[in-house]
Amino acid sequence: MALQVIRGISQLRSVLDKHRQTGERIVCVPTMGNLHEGHMALIQLAHKHGEVVVATIFVNPLQFGLNEDWDQYPRTFDSDVDKLNSVNCHYLFFPTDEEMYPFGMDNQTRVFCPTMTDVLCGASRPGHFEGVTTVVTKLFHIADPDVAIFGEKDWQQLAVIRRMVADLCMRVKIVGAPIARDHDGLALSSRNAFISEDERPRANQLNKSLNWAREQILSGNKDYGRIEAQAKQQILDAGFRPDYFSVCNAQNLAPALDEDTDLAILGALFTEGARLIDNVQLKIER
Ligand code: AMP
Repeated sequence: MALQVIRGISQLRSVLDKHRQTGERIVCVPTMGNLHEGHMALIQLAHKHGEVVVATIFVNPLQFGLNEDWDQYPRTFDSDVDKLNSVNCHYLFFPTDEEMYPFGMDNQTRVFCPTMTDVLCGASRPGHFEGVTTVVTKLFHIADPDVAIFGEKDWQQLAVIRRMVADLCMRVKIVGAPIARDHDGLALSSRNAFISEDERPRANQLNKSLNWAREQILSGNKDYGRIEAQAKQQILDAGFRPDYFSVCNAQNLAPALDEDTDLAILGALFTEGARLIDNVQLKIER
């Protein structure tokens, strides 16, 4: 079956209801489009979790700050459709802003997950995660999926969505997908298009520093503060401005404590034209 593009909420609901009535499981993959290999891997993983795969493309204005890149965000509908077809995605939900926010963004009821959203990316992007949790809740109410797939590339987003689903007793099962990377370790991202040619050979520094920090901790270094400071210096030395670099509890994203064994190291840096994020996970034996 070729990909079917659907723009209306009621139209999507009626096609998905028919599948649900025959016992098929719906798997949803929310995206903002400009699809790359990382997104394709999410769709491929989605096929393993159900019979009907629904991708969504919506460049959600509610999750962009006033000075951010909502208007410059790459919109590549035709090639996105080709890519979705190449991985046998069944439906693409591609709503307009008016379909998603018929009463305007200012009047939109919000979903807010506290504490985990004002650190890391949330600290430099106030309101961002409220926009994410609000739109993802809406997409879950619209598609009513059995499973939804999110990339580990956005580890904080994944952790926040897992918490929201638990807090609000949503039935959907959240599945995380591993980070897809370029040959030199740079995490694939739509925003990589904004990295200049001059910067590109060094743009994997964040990944290098994350792996370096991981090795430090695995070899017994427990001075997380010093590791974070050294990693930021490595990023500066490579010619980029670090945003944050933080060793965290992998689930609640608080700064890692001595007794924490399930850790995530998260980092963000600014290139001239983009803000890049990445993370690594590690478990330590006690
Ligand atoms: P985006 O279109 O950037 O909002 O991303 C849509 C989904 O794809 C999110 O769940 C992201 O975490 C995921 N994603 C984006 N880039 C990657 C990547 N390099 N590897 C794995 N998942 C990714």
